[in-house]
This record gives sequence, C-alpha cells and structure tokens, in this order.
Amino acid sequence: MWLLYYDQSLEEDLMSNKWVYLFDEVTEAEKYVDGDWEKVRALLGGKGANLGDMTRAGVPVPPGFTVTTEACNAYLAAGEQFPPGMWEQELGALRATEAKTGKKFGDPSNPLLVSCRSGAKFSMPGMMDTVLNIGLNDEVVMGMTELTGDERFVYDSYRRLVQMFGSVVMGIADEPFEEILTEARQQAGVESDSDLTAADWKEVTEKFKRLFKAETGRDFPQDPQEQIKLATEAVFKSWNGKRAIDYRNAAKIAHDLGTGVNIQTMVFGNMGNNSATGVAMTRNATTGENHIEGDYLTNAQGEDVVAGIRLTKPIEQLESEMPESYAQFAEICRKLERHYREMQDVEFTVEQGKLWMLQTRDGKRTAQAAVRIAVDMAEDGLITKEQAVLRVTPEQVDFFLHPQFKAESIQAAVDAGEKLATGLNVSPGAAVGQIAFDADLAERWAKEEGKEVIMVRPETRPDDVHGMLAARGIMTSRGGRTSHAALVARQFGTPAVVGVAALDIDLDKREMRVGARVIKEGDWISLDGTVGDVYLGQLETVVPDIDDPYLIKLLSWADEARRLQVWANADYPPDARQARQFGAQGIGLCRTEHMFFEPERLPYVQRMIMHQDEPAVVKESLDTLLPYQREDFAGLFRAMDGLPVIIRLIDPPLHEFLPTQLDLALEVDELQRSGGDTAVLAEKRDQLEAVEKMHEANPMLGLRGVRLGIHLAALTRMQVRAIFEAACQVAKEGVDVQPEVMIPLTSHVNELRVQQSALEEEGKKVMAEQGVTINYKFGTMIEIPRAALTADEMAEYAQFFSYGTNDLTQTTFGISRDDAEKGFLIEYMEKKILPENPFASIDEAGVGKLMEIGVKLGRQTRPEMEIGICGEHGGDPKSVAFCHKIGLNYVSCSPFRVPIARLAAGQIALVEKGVSAK
Ligand code: PEP
Ligand code: MG
Repeated sequence: MWLLYYDQSLEEDLMSNKWVYLFDEVTEAEKYVDGDWEKVRALLGGKGANLGDMTRAGVPVPPGFTVTTEACNAYLAAGEQFPPGMWEQELGALRATEAKTGKKFGDPSNPLLVSCRSGAKFSMPGMMDTVLNIGLNDEVVMGMTELTGDERFVYDSYRRLVQMFGSVVMGIADEPFEEILTEARQQAGVESDSDLTAADWKEVTEKFKRLFKAETGRDFPQDPQEQIKLATEAVFKSWNGKRAIDYRNAAKIAHDLGTGVNIQTMVFGNMGNNSATGVAMTRNATTGENHIEGDYLTNAQGEDVVAGIRLTKPIEQLESEMPESYAQFAEICRKLERHYREMQDVEFTVEQGKLWMLQTRDGKRTAQAAVRIAVDMAEDGLITKEQAVLRVTPEQVDFFLHPQFKAESIQAAVDAGEKLATGLNVSPGAAVGQIAFDADLAERWAKEEGKEVIMVRPETRPDDVHGMLAARGIMTSRGGRTSHAALVARQFGTPAVVGVAALDIDLDKREMRVGARVIKEGDWISLDGTVGDVYLGQLETVVPDIDDPYLIKLLSWADEARRLQVWANADYPPDARQARQFGAQGIGLCRTEHMFFEPERLPYVQRMIMHQDEPAVVKESLDTLLPYQREDFAGLFRAMDGLPVIIRLIDPPLHEFLPTQLDLALEVDELQRSGGDTAVLAEKRDQLEAVEKMHEANPMLGLRGVRLGIHLAALTRMQVRAIFEAACQVAKEGVDVQPEVMIPLTSHVNELRVQQSALEEEGKKVMAEQGVTINYKFGTMIEIPRAALTADEMAEYAQFFSYGTNDLTQTTFGISRDDAEKGFLIEYMEKKILPENPFASIDEAGVGKLMEIGVKLGRQTRPEMEIGICGEHGGDPKSVAFCHKIGLNYVSCSPFRVPIARLAAGQIALVEKGVSAK
C-alpha cells in the first residue's frame, strides 16, 4: 500500500515537472534555477539557452522549443522511456509553435516543418547531427509543391529528410545514400547536385525510401509526430553513443549532464536566389582580428555550407549580394557580442530576403585569437582587464611557445620543390609526422607504436576525433574554416590545414596525389598551420620568442593581479637571459653540477672523485675547476642584474660523473683481450674499482645532496668560494648582485648547522679578501619529509626554503621518480588509484600538506622567510595555484613555463578576489 502511494506521488511529481520550454519561456527557466545562467545552460543545453536568450533579446529567431537535459537524464535512467508528461508537453509546445508561425504540423495546405538538434551544456561536435525538414511526408510534399510552385525545392527537401532521418536517427550508413546520389548525377550527366531537376529528386527520394525500408525493415514514417518522437529519442540516446563519450573524455566534460533537444521552425535558404545560408564568427577565429569571418551559399541549406561539398563564398560577398540582409546581420553580430561579451559563432539563413538567426554560441578559436580577442575586448571596455586575464588558459599561452618551422628549413624545402600545396591555416603551429589516412590507424600508430602522425582525410567527422587527438597535425582536402576538422583542431591546439584543394586522396589505394606526385601512407609531411602550407618530408622546427604584442599586454595584466613571483630554473647565462625576457623575477635554481659535465671539466671532476682520499689531488682538481665555476656564476649574475639568483651546491651521487660499471667492465675486458695501452687499462681498472666501491643499492637515497657536501667538504667550499668571488667581481663592475646559496636534500637541522656555518665562513673570507660586501642568503631545499616536519628547526639556520617537489614527491610517496613514469604509476592513473600524476601536479593532500606544515613552521621561527618551489611543479598551473594558496613567495620553473606560470599566478589571485571570466 505504502509502495503504491509512494509510486503515485513520484509519478505526480514527474508529471508536474516542466520538461519542455518554448524559446520565449527562457525567463521561466531562469526562475526555475534561481536565476543562475549557468544552470539555465545546464537545463536547456548551451544551444537551447542561447536560442531562448536571443529570442528574449529581440534577435529574429525562428520559433521553437527545447526539451530539457533533465528529460534526457530521466529518459536514460528509466531504461529509455520518456518521463511521464514529457511527450504531452512536447506536443503542447508544437501547438504553440504552430500558433506563432500560423502554420500547422502535417497540414498539406500550410505545413510547418521543423529541425531537430541536440544541444548539451557544452558544445560537443561528438553529438548527434541535425535532422532537417521534419514534418514532410508524401502528402505534405504534394501540398507544399502546390503552395510554393517549386517541385524541385520540395523534393530536394524531402530527400534530405529521408537521408538525414535514415542516417542520424536510424543509423543507416551514409555511403549507400551517397551512391544513389552519385548515380543520379551520372545518369543526368551533371557534376553538381544543384543541376539535378525536380524529376531527379523525386526519383532519388523514392530510392532513398526503398533503401530506408531495406535497411530498417520499416517504411519511412509518414506520421510527422512519430518523426519528432523518434528524432527526440535518437538525440537522447546519442548522449551515450561512443563518439560522444570519447569526446567527453577528451574534453573533460562530465558524463551526467545529459543533452537537450531543440525543435525549431525550419526556414529555407534554398528558396531561390534571394535566399542564402551561412555560418560566421563575429571575429577572425584564427588571428582574432575584429571583423566578421564566415562562409555562405546562395540558394542552399545549412549543411551544404559545413559539409564543404559546395565551394562556399566568403561572407564579405553577402554585402554586395544582399546588402540589406548583410547590414542587419552585421548589426546583430555586434549586438550579440555586446550581449554575450564574447566572440560568437553564428548560423544564419536568409529566406526570401528575410534574415533569421539559427544559432549563436561562444566561438572556438586559436590560442592567438583567444589572446587578441580578450585584449581587444578589454580595451574596448566590453570586459575588464581582469576578466581578460581569466579568459585565456595557461595552455593557450603555452601555445605561443610551440614550435614553428625554421625559416631556413622552409626555404630549403621550397628550393627543393618540396612544397606540396597550400590550404586554409585554421589552427597554427608546426607539425611533422607520417601520414595516416584514417582515425583508427592514426590512433594506433601514435599510441601503440609511438609514431608521430599527421592525419589526412578528405574531411573529418565526429567519429574521427580519437585519431585527431592522437595526431600531431591534421590535414583535409575539403572543408572551410568552420569545418569540423578546423573546430576540433583549434580547440585542442593541434596544428591543422584544411581545404587543401590540390590534394587528391585515394583512400582505397592509401595514397594521395598532388599534381603528378604520389604520396603514400606512412610518408613524412610537415604542416604549417600558421600559414596553411604543406611540405613533403620533415622540416626543422624552432620555438618562437614570445613577441606577440597582445600576449605581452595580457601577461602584464596578469602581473598586475598576481601576488606570487615567478622565477626560473636556469643553469647558464643564455637560459637566464631567455627566462628574464619571458618575465622571470629571479633564478630559483641553478644546478651547478650540470657544468661539471662539460668536456674540459669532466676529467678533473673524475680525478677528484677517484682520489677523494688524497688531499693534494683533490685540491689541484678543485683549483682547476674554480675559475670555470666563477665564470659560470659571474655570467648568471650579470644576466640577472638586480634580481636574486639561487645557486645550489652539488647534489647528485658521485657515480653519475663516472662511466657506468657495465661500460667500464666491457672496456677493461676489451683492452685486456686486445692487449691495448697498459696505462689506459690501468686507469680504467681504477675507475671500475672506484665505481664498484661507490655502488649503492638506492643511490637517490644515498650519498648525495648535503650528505655529499659534508663528505666532500672541499668541493662545496670551492663552489661557495666561486660564488662569492664571482659576486664580488661583478659587484665591482656595478652589477646589483643578490646571491643565495642553497643546500640540497637536508633532513636534519644538524646538517645545516655543520655545513652552513663552514660555508658561510668561507663566503665571509672571500668578501674580506675582495674588500666587497655582498647581500647574500644561505638556505636549504625542503625535499625530504623530515625537513618539512622540522622546518621550525631548519629555519634557525636557513634564511630561505625552496621546495624540491621532485624529490619531495619521491620521498613522500616512496616512489622512485626515475622509474615511476615508465611503470606502475601509469597503471595507477588508468585504474584511477591516483587521480593524476603526482610528479606533474602537486599531490595536495600529501605532499601539499607537508609543504603547508613547512611554511607554517618555518615562518614561526622566521616570520619573513622567503619560501619558493623549484621542482617541476613550479610550471604547472594547478600547482601554481596551490603555491599561491599556501603563501609561497615565488614559483620557479623552466624558462619556457615562465609565461604560463605568470598567467596562472594572476588567475588564482583574481579567482581569490571573486572575479569571474564572464
Ligand atoms: C627537486 O627535487 O624538486 C629539485 C628541484 O631538485 P632535482 O630535481 O635536481 O633533484
Ligand atoms: Mg632534488
């Protein structure tokens, strides 16, 4: 009894739910979700919400309605059953639409035709396509023919419905439809669909209907209501289709959002030469320039434009062809931009001289365009500077540091006649790879065989996305700037060139021809997505300087907002100069040992290691190395004039400077067998013996860092002498020098007590010798959990801390940083045991907690203590935000991550202030 009562109440609840909203009921939808526009988008889907919003703003939108994402979720949860009341509401909305248009669904004398489109909260090219012309059947066709007097147009519309309904709703493959069309063109002896007559279309329609029956076992549904019902269901089901799931996984879209269904009155761009249809971006989506960019076709239907089958016309031509419509269109574009304060991607149709807007959404764009649009909009007062900073992602900044082709390499390719063709430059950057002609192969080659792949297709479709994501670059022979390939490539920052008309792709033979040239699958090509050129072979790439004026401005706004400083990890003066050019405010880590590997120094380093117990030899080696190190540091100080430079004392285990045990054993063996030079043999034997003696089972947990510094005190003393001598020398030159000496891998305060005191003494000695006083600091890395947990004690000696999160992650997890990423760590991520790679993004709950403790304890002892991070995480946007939150002074990362960290640091400061991008 109770159960029955319960079910009834649930049923009544669902019945009273509003599942369907007319476009002009958007205000009601807004009330239902408490006025939160993001929630309106979640409820109606982005497309439905925008259609409602445009209608409310007085933009001419063909009337219609949206079935909510809640209805989709209820349908899927109930095992593919419409929730109670939904269908009745849909029919009610259809009647309301009839009333608005004065037309009637299924009425041959005055028929209403509608389109059906999916629309999730976030735009998803992986979702169901559109079905147009719903409402046509054998009877309506007759009525419409009489009404319009244009039998050709009517049958053309009908065959489109049967085809789209067949493929999109019923899942029939496209090819048999295309074969019928090809055959019709051949029979009629014409090249283009637009040359087919009414009789041709009539016959095609009949053939399509027969195909439909043969493929589905049922007739094409004649009842318009049934057409809508099936189309609605198909949209709901497409939410869980493979390509939609793949797309969501790649774009990190939640799987429980559901999709809305938009049913909208059809307007026709194919009703003669005063009709047209097109797509446009309110700004240039590649460069960000502030002018409308798009394609259209006269006397055509929407999908003709996007499918890239007919050669489209640039939107500027509309201005001369239909000046009034164009003027109205341009004005609406401006209005939409002002309304949404964002660049829009619109679809429009002119039906017999009357302009209709079919869709608007935030436009996808390249990284360059994103930056320029954000800056332009801020300068035009459409958004604030702070919002502009939040509108560009760190990944988009990263793009500016992507490779481009070397100018000489391009010239050489041109001279050698290797330039193949030019297409549309829809997604910038240089890509080099081997041609794969389909998405599955592209994915397999890239993922399983580690190949660099360029995916080449006549055009791409949503179910190609997995291949596009795996590819370095994308090239298509057809399609325009708004084609699927262009949109997806841009979104994921993959270089792409589309519409390369000179390509003749033969998918059966797995080859393509350009003029007389035949290029096979697996051959190498190079794509320049920035200009649209394609070359045969592998061109050399370079990473460009960031000299884009819009980026410079945007980053300067991020700088105004951020609290966190951004420093760089750099060992050599050129790196330091590069870092400074990118905006670094200091050097957070100079790994001194890198210099020991240089050919003229390594023999001395090795000699010192081999003769550790012979003070005279050690001294002689160090005396030789000292001037080199002094010059290294002097160069760094000069490059960073006025900024702090942290120099870390030697860190790695000594065996890293010697050949491996295996190599030495082989060499000794070889010398013995061949009776080689005895002196060399003796030396190699000595080395082998030394390496064997130094062997440690876990060298990364062994004699390295401060332990090595204490063990080989003369070496670190030499390094400190070199630092101070260099500092005094450049100070005399007038350089403002701020050295900070960093002791690595400490775990106990006594290590600092012993080591730091001795070294500071050496520093003071040098200053006295030179008669110069330098502002310096001594400090330590925190990269062992014990150091973080006893940071209050460490701070008694250390004047600064720098988190070495590479080692801190290794030692906190007990996972070897050198092996983990080749092994089980990947499996852990696949199995979701770890949400992400802790070596890429700080593990906030564990490693992060230690960092927080370290900050708190360190500043207990030394309130103004300078604390930073120099592990790889310093350039990871999410970790940068974490470092901001726990109150670090700076992050230090590789020079090429500096601009990204600047933006990320600005963004987190703004988010904390409550600023939002919209
Ligand atoms: C670290 O451990 O995070 C660090 C910066 O030092 P290294 O990578 O040189 O061990
Ligand atoms: Mg380390």
